[in-house]
Amino acid sequence: MKADKCAAIVLAGGSGKRMKSNVKKQYIQINQRPLLYYSLKAFEAFGIEEIILVTSEAEIEYCRKEIVERYGFTHVSSIVAGGKERYHSVYEGLKVVKKCDYVFIHDGARPCISQEILSNCLEGVRKYDACVAAVPVKDTIKIVDENQFAQMTPERSKVWIVQTPQVFQYSLVKKAYDTMFASSHELTITDDAMVVENFTDRKVKLVMGSYYNVKVTTPDDLLLVKDYLSEG
Ligand code: C5P
Repeated sequence: MKADKCAAIVLAGGSGKRMKSNVKKQYIQINQRPLLYYSLKAFEAFGIEEIILVTSEAEIEYCRKEIVERYGFTHVSSIVAGGKERYHSVYEGLKVVKKCDYVFIHDGARPCISQEILSNCLEGVRKYDACVAAVPVKDTIKIVDENQFAQMTPERSKVWIVQTPQVFQYSLVKKAYDTMFASSHELTITDDAMVVENFTDRKVKLVMGSYYNVKVTTPDDLLLVKDYLSEG
């Protein structure tokens, strides 16, 4: 049987303002390695042949020298400039991916991605063409009105927290993004699944992620991932 060809887009093009640090969060050192190192390492270890790293224009050289060359990441085939919002950065990545069966889209700010999550995603995408890593919520969730009064309580068993990787058949997600950018839909896009949900007729399957797979957003998240990574 022909092996599936997989690519990964690792996103590091954000400004990380909520971190309130003078070093951008993706380059903060955790256990002597930049945060971004851990995602790239996980994809290489999983055997992904083509990794596209998306960063800001100004940081391309830094990423090439201080991350890709320094740590010997041989599967990173391109480092490209992202865009204003996350979905712009994803699209820049999608445009340079070579022909492949599946593409993993991952926030470089989630360093605790494991081989188990990657396996769950690969299994999911082979079966359903579109899947995202996610975990069921443990707390009750409230939808609030504009004044922060509780408006609605969704049934807890039906609420999941969505993470990355978000993994798709390449042609499906590329077409969905092409359609979105060609249309004048003003959607607030916060993940890739939304693009596939809104611009294709395909359903997105949620597969098991991990409660450790947190996105580093604020300084307290750094303490958490530091612990998680030293345990692993
Ligand atoms: O901003 P947020 O934490 O949601 O970003 C999620 C991921 O997307 C991060 O890894 C960030 O670097 C990346 N991103 C990007 N381009 C943007 C905004 C965010 O690559 N314009």
